Order: sequence, then C-alpha cells, then structure tokens
Amino acid sequence: MSREVDYDAIVVGGGPAGSICAFTLARKGHSVALLDKKKRDRIGDKTCGDALDKQTVDLLKENLGIDEPHGKEVSDIIRYMSIAANNIDNKATLTAPGYVVDRLEYAKRLLDLCEKEGVTIIPQAPVRDIIVENNQLCGVVFYQGNEKKSLKAHLTIDASGSYAVIRKKLPESMRYNGIISKEISPDMVWPTYREIIELNEGVKYHQWKNEIVLLYEKSIPIPGYFWIFSKGDNQLNIGIGWLKSEKNMPPLKEAFLKEMKKYYSQDMYRVLKSGGGQIPIRPPFDTLVFNGGALVGDAACLVHPTTAEGHGPALESGYYCALACDYALSKGDYSDNSLWQYNRQIMNHLGEKHAIGLLIRQFLENIGSNGLEYLIRKQFFTNEDLDKLVRGQKIKLSVFEQLKRVFRVFPKWGSILSLQRMIKSIDVVKQIYSQYPENPNELEKWRKLRNEKLNWNF
Ligand SMILES: Cc1cc2nc3c(=O)[nH]c(=O)nc-3n(C[C@H](O)[C@H](O)[C@H](O)COP(=O)(O)OP(=O)(O)OC[C@H]3O[C@@H](n4cnc5c(N)ncnc54)[C@H](O)[C@@H]3O)c2cc1C
Repeated sequence: MSREVDYDAIVVGGGPAGSICAFTLARKGHSVALLDKKKRDRIGDKTCGDALDKQTVDLLKENLGIDEPHGKEVSDIIRYMSIAANNIDNKATLTAPGYVVDRLEYAKRLLDLCEKEGVTIIPQAPVRDIIVENNQLCGVVFYQGNEKKSLKAHLTIDASGSYAVIRKKLPESMRYNGIISKEISPDMVWPTYREIIELNEGVKYHQWKNEIVLLYEKSIPIPGYFWIFSKGDNQLNIGIGWLKSEKNMPPLKEAFLKEMKKYYSQDMYRVLKSGGGQIPIRPPFDTLVFNGGALVGDAACLVHPTTAEGHGPALESGYYCALACDYALSKGDYSDNSLWQYNRQIMNHLGEKHAIGLLIRQFLENIGSNGLEYLIRKQFFTNEDLDKLVRGQKIKLSVFEQLKRVFRVFPKWGSILSLQRMIKSIDVVKQIYSQYPENPNELEKWRKLRNEKLNWNF
C-alpha cells in the first residue's frame, strides 16, 4: 500500500557511511534527505586514526566515479602496516596501500557531491526518535533548534555511527529476537584516546613516514593497542585504546602520555587536536536490514575486530546498502526480504573478513603480547601470511614449511597450537559465511550452526 512520504529515503548521519549511501541513492534517481546533528561545515569531523585503505577508495572510483582522496584531503600516502610487540623495533611489516586522510576535508567533498546529486542536507538536526507503523520504520523525529519536526520516507537508514540512534529505538518486534541489539557488550567496545601532534622544529623527523604502526604492549590488554600513524612530514596521529570491559586500568590519557614519553617528551611537540571515541569491534549483526530500513557503518558494527578499521567498511556498506534500497524502491516493496541482498553482499565479504578478525583477536588474546613478540622475533610469520590474515584470507602451509616454522619457535609450541586452532576456525568461517541465507526465514538456522561450530553466542 502506498503511503504519503516526504522523501524516498532518509539517511541519518553524514559520516562516510551516510554520505556514500545518500549519494548513491540520489545518483539512482531517488529523493533523499540526509540529517546530521552537526553544523554543515563540521559534518564528517571525527576523532579517528585517519587511515583509509586503498581497496575501498578504488571501489568508489570504479563504481561511482568518486576520485581518490587528494590535495589537502591527504595527510600521507600509506604503503606499510607494521605490527609490533612490546617494543616498536620488534615488528613485522606488511604492504598495506592506503591513505592517512584529513577526515573533515574528505567528508566535505563527499557531502558536496551529495548536494550536487540532489540530496537535501539538513544540518544541526539531531534525530531523537523514530516513527514505526505496522512493524515498519517510516521516518524520524528530530529537532531544529527547539522545534520538534518529523519526516517520513519509504526507507530510513541508520548511519549515525556508534550512537546508532535508530538501532537503539527499534522496537523489540523488529530486532529479530535480539540479533540486532540496542547496546554492544563491553567486551566488544573500545574506548579510545587520540592526539594529532606536530613535532617542534628541530625535533628529529619521525621514522614512520608512509607507515602505520600498531603496537601491542604488556601494559595494554589485547586486543587494545597503541598506534602511531604518519600524518605527513612532521605530524603524527597517535592513540590508545582497550576494551571497555577491562578492569583496574588507568585513565586512557594517563596511559597514553606514559607511552608517549618513550618516543617524545612533551616539550618536543604541540598537540593540534585531541579527543576520544568509542569503536564497536564485534563482527556485524547477523542482519543489517528490517522492514523499512537498514544499518550501515559503525551503527551496523562494521569495524574490523583486530585492526579497528571502520572508515573503509563504512563507505563500502553505504554503497551496497544503497544498491539494495534502490532495488526495494524500484519494486515498491520496503520489507526486510526486499532489502536482503544487502545482507548477502556484506556477509560474503565484510562479514566473513570481520568474523576472521574476531578469530585473530582471540588468537592474540591467547598468546598475549609476549607470545606475539616471540613469534615476530623468530620471524614465524612471513609478510605474506600477515597480509592474508588481515585481509581475511587463509594461510596455506606445506608440511615442510610447517615443520620448519615449528622448529623455529622451539620450545614455545603453545602459540603454534593456538595458531592451528585459528586456521581451522578460519576454514569454518569461510564455509559458513559463504552460505549466508537467501532470505530471513533461514537466518535462525544459519546462526545456530555458526554459533555451534565456532562456539560463539552472537
Ligand atoms: C579514535 C578512533 C580511531 C579510529 N581509527 C580508524 C582508522 O585509522 N581507520 C579506520 O578505517 N577507522 C578508524 N576508526 C573507525 C572509524 O572512525 C569509523 O568506523 C567510521 O567513522 C564510521 O563511519 P560512520 O559513517 O558509520 O559513522 P561516523 O563517522 O561516526 O558518522 C556518524 C555521523 O552521524 C551523526 N549523528 C550521530 N548521532 C546523530 C543523531 N542523533 N542525529 C543526527 N546525526 C547524528 C554524527 O554527527 C556523524 O556525522 C577509528 C575510530 C575512532 C573512535
């Protein structure tokens, strides 16, 4: 039955996920409103490590003709990612092409593109509630100044990041028996603290040009880490984070400053920006769609559970969500069933990759930073192995290669057993995620199998 609507689609949040979703939908000829609580010129500004992988940028270029970050949008071109344990010099390095971006500058271009494509951007419009009719999301309630307003649409997309304003308001009947949860459990969320610093003139130029480094440290419980990302000639993006569930930890900033002292004393740099943020680091919900809408980006928990990379996944999810919405709008069917192809697209790629990310996280938790230090020192992993693991691919070793490596880490074989367990589970994940159901009716059966085989309780 056709309803009166203001727009075909409403997108809540103008970060990477929301802007690409709105842009793609408008490009397909749909009327779209994008609401954000921030002022127009601040939308997209976000406390972040600022790293963005090239793969996603290529996807946007190929499919939407959106140019890669350039000019002042780019702080540094990234070629390598290093994983260090207990000491920054004890590291394994893999090729990881990408960018460290200026989030605000890059976001401004995406929003300008949205406007050119006909998206109505409504800034300073915090969404406070949703409109649900007959078990279907039909729009949002928001404020402009003190004025309470509402908008209706066929489809409403939650791109509000970790705030997840729509997700948190969905009634129980639309949550698939809790599969889409309101809150994220504290052992799946990372609070963080980050600074962008500029080194004073005369201070030795940093050694991390073109590189991002994740440092696993005894004092930072895994999967938490300290990061140092190059941000151009004399700037660095540095931060720290660990799970919200960790007890007896010092304040994040205190731990950050203690770690920083190992590299730069406070008179060697000035702080350009500082802040914190929450990162949901669990695999995505098992469905990201419901009647009348969908979740994208951080609202859908699309952040890699080991690296905490979420910018690329947010952009990618915005694109694939828009394709599914375009299909639903063209059919005039706004049900979860009609949007289901978005689930399949995500689960076959990011879902699988992030499920493997959780296995890597569990492996790292098992061996600890000392175990990782040992494996790196003994050059147990080749760069190719690490590259594959981070990309969610399987490591294959010949019997000879396995033996060679086993002897290399003598006598600490515990970590090899953990590694073997992880490799076996990666096989299971690959098999299960490639069989993600074709419609909502099969979802529960699929989940049961996945949880049984991996001993998970999502
Ligand atoms: C400290 C830190 C470091 C990180 N480092 C990296 C990194 O180096 N690389 C990487 O890939 N990822 C990184 N991430 C993750 C990355 O920042 C996110 O995954 C990404 O920004 C998610 O994009 P999004 O569009 O889903 O949400 P966001 O970028 O959070 O955008 C959400 C938007 O919604 C708006 N909004 C929120 N609530 C409402 C409301 N009620 N009404 C209206 N609008 C609303 C906000 O104003 C915002 O503009 C990091 C995150 C943090 C916190």
